[in-house]
Formats: sequence, C-alpha cells, structure tokens
Amino acid sequence: MAEKRRFGLLIDYEYCTGCYTCQVACAQEYNWPTGMGGIRVQEIVQNLPNDKSYLTYIPFPTELCILCRPRTKKGLEPACVKHCMAGCMKYGAVDDLAKEMVKKPRMVLWAPR
Ligand code: SF4
Ligand code: SF4
Repeated sequence: MAEKRRFGLLIDYEYCTGCYTCQVACAQEYNWPTGMGGIRVQEIVQNLPNDKSYLTYIPFPTELCILCRPRTKKGLEPACVKHCMAGCMKYGAVDDLAKEMVKKPRMVLWAPR
C-alpha cells in the first residue's frame, strides 16, 4: 500500500520582518480567542558582548495548526501563507519541502502528524 504523503509548512525566516500578519490571518480565519492560534511569531534578541545585538523573528506553528485543511481541500493556500507579504512560507508535501530546505540556510520545516 502506498504511503500517505505528509504535508507541512516550509518557513524561510531569513526574510521574516516580524509583521505578525501570518498570526493575524490565522486568528481571523479560525476566530481564535486572544492568546490562541495556529502560529505564533517569536522575537528573539541576542545581545553580544560587543554591544551589538541580533534580532530574529521566527513564526512557529503550534499544535492548533490544522494546516488549513478546509482551505487546502478547496485548492486554496493556507491563510498564513497567502497573507505573508514577504513570501516566507510555503505549503506542500514534506518530502518536496525538505528538498527545498537543503538549498539555503535559515529555514524551518513544520511537519505535523
Ligand atoms: S512570516 Fe511573513 S507574515 Fe509572518 S511575521 Fe514573518 S513576514 Fe510577517
Ligand atoms: S496553516 Fe492555517 S491553521 Fe496553520 S498556522 Fe497557517 S493559517 Fe493557521
């Protein structure tokens, strides 16, 4: 029997501006109450000894992410993917996304059950 393909999100956080649009898009799509949602943008600040600091934004899908099955069943992109103006996220089969992931650094592959 053929193995069922798994789907996921590939997140290229190098270009994430921390605009939170993906988080808002998910909240609006599923009417999540405040503080809940399928994706949470994290701000990570690392202070270096030379008074410089690194600021990184990474959107993390949560256990509430259902990969927008109601949308993808209709051939639509997940809400977070569609609304990210920086084009940081891509939805697809995990094996295809993993091949893309090896091409550049600063990628996160989210592959739920
Ligand atoms: S992933 Fe896209 S929509 Fe989400 S915070 Fe980053 S730039 Fe904004
Ligand atoms: S794929 Fe859908 S459910 Fe998952 S974080 Fe994006 S908008 Fe939310």
